[in-house]
Amino acid sequence: MSESAANHNFIRPIIQEDIDSGRLSGKVVTRFPPEPNGYLHIGHAKSICLNFGLAEEFGGDCTLRFDDTNPAKEEQEYIEAIMEDVQWLGFQWAGEVRYASNYFDQFYDWAVHLIEQGKAYVCDLTPEQASEYRGWATKPGKPSPYRERSIDENLALFEKMKQGEFEEGFCVLRAKIDMASPNMNLRDPILYRIRKKAHHQTGDKWCIYPSYDFAHGQGDAIEGVTHSICTLEFQDHRPLYEWFIENLPVPSKPKQYEFGRLNINYTVTSKRNLKQLVDEHIVHGWNDPRMPTISGMRRRGFTPAALREFCNGLAVAKTDGVVDIAQLEFEIRSDLNENAARAMCVLKPLKVTISNAADDVEWLDVPNHPQKEEMGQRALPFTNTIYIDASDFTEDTTLSRKKFKRLVIGDFVRLRGAYVIKADEVIKNDQGEVIEVIASLVPDTVGQNPPPEMKPRGVIHWVSATQGKEVELRLYDRLFTAEAPGKQTGNYLDDVNPDSLQVIKALAEPAIVDCEPETAFQFEREGYFVSDRYDHSAATPVFNMTIGLRDSKSK
Ligand code: ATP
Ligand code: MG
Repeated sequence: MSESAANHNFIRPIIQEDIDSGRLSGKVVTRFPPEPNGYLHIGHAKSICLNFGLAEEFGGDCTLRFDDTNPAKEEQEYIEAIMEDVQWLGFQWAGEVRYASNYFDQFYDWAVHLIEQGKAYVCDLTPEQASEYRGWATKPGKPSPYRERSIDENLALFEKMKQGEFEEGFCVLRAKIDMASPNMNLRDPILYRIRKKAHHQTGDKWCIYPSYDFAHGQGDAIEGVTHSICTLEFQDHRPLYEWFIENLPVPSKPKQYEFGRLNINYTVTSKRNLKQLVDEHIVHGWNDPRMPTISGMRRRGFTPAALREFCNGLAVAKTDGVVDIAQLEFEIRSDLNENAARAMCVLKPLKVTISNAADDVEWLDVPNHPQKEEMGQRALPFTNTIYIDASDFTEDTTLSRKKFKRLVIGDFVRLRGAYVIKADEVIKNDQGEVIEVIASLVPDTVGQNPPPEMKPRGVIHWVSATQGKEVELRLYDRLFTAEAPGKQTGNYLDDVNPDSLQVIKALAEPAIVDCEPETAFQFEREGYFVSDRYDHSAATPVFNMTIGLRDSKSK
């Protein structure tokens, strides 16, 4: 972990102090508690790195607990995707996967316990009435007319709620705390609601479900969580979290700490918004490479190491902030520059015929990485017809060598890993466009410098016309054109970039098409690409553009 990250995490010294002072007798235990109602995004990655990272650092445990207090149908897909994403990021939860629903029996008993202590009651106010009785921040609430029901009556009513004798919404179980509290969360919050819905874990067993507030801290206590780390919006819930821990016979006493959510410019990080992008087919699913979801970034070619490096470099503070996406992109580039094999692929092909080249294929050995010999070599076929990128050739001989380090008519350029060539003539179509360049190679210049008067302007990439393979490239741009999507109009969909995906055919050197899905390459002078996780095969090669070689967008 970097120095700066170590300095900007306010939770780390708290844990250290808990250990030093002896308040913590056992292990440090944290948890990551996703609600299975969507795929994980980059914000969750920060929470994952924080929770698993701190546990690792202090020799403790981090559990994975699905916060599944809200029954819904489609959750199994999300559960599986979330587990896969956490592991892909490089973390393993302690023990079995947990579900808040594992503890429904215990939560129910604890609700009964509160009723028996005179600290909870069944309330029949309609939601509208209840909201009126609650008051607002500056106006104290007033007691519900059902607040003084007897313990026996409450026990009987709660049992009936559980037996399904009331309609959904007819009544709720509330804690009896303080209707005048300046903290709205303490104005007799809801503990249980009637929801006549099957649950993906517990089936039809329950028709009453605990609220998030009534489940979360108690789940932490059952699992022996010592430091329950959540985002800032739960700060005002902390007194309630502590009230439950104090008023219930829980097996341990966790503490809640809140940190600022991660927001990134040019993107949205809210499952609700991301779900809308999927449901309205603005992207092709949760794992579309344009999505800031972990599975989308994975498919785009981002690496777990780069994501961890990015997350660990973020401040863990008590304020929300917006992080520049360039910071994330920097980490991706650094990792890929170091670890991606080099290859050549031509995106806008221009035919070059080399008049003095041999008729058969010449196989050249080229290194897979300029600095890393251990990454080996590959055989690159050179033939008398090749393709270069159209933007790498010009007839304009006035351009200086410094300005245009590519092929100019009458001048020399080096083909990466192969010969120095000279452009001799051009062939044009009826519109006057160059459709072919006739060139000649300088003998003995593979790995050797030519005589000084033939000094090449630069090095360009190329692919053999006969040996190259056609590949599909999916070129991505940012999904949003605005730094803060929706800031202008109030609707983030107004800032969706209509040109965020471009699919083209390109010509690549043959060695790469046999790669496994999810193999990263630097296509020389073009950018970083990855073979698609789902669609790539040797028969139908598909590569996603991960990111350009340098940051062309920063101001
Ligand atoms: P969303 O608003 O995207 O639906 P959420 O907070 O409802 O997010 P959960 O599944 O409840 O999503 O989140 C699991 C954990 O991840 C929580 O501890 C939550 O605080 C944390 N988390 C969610 N979004 C972010 C974020 N942008 N930055 C940091 N942590 C986050
Ligand atoms: Mg949530």
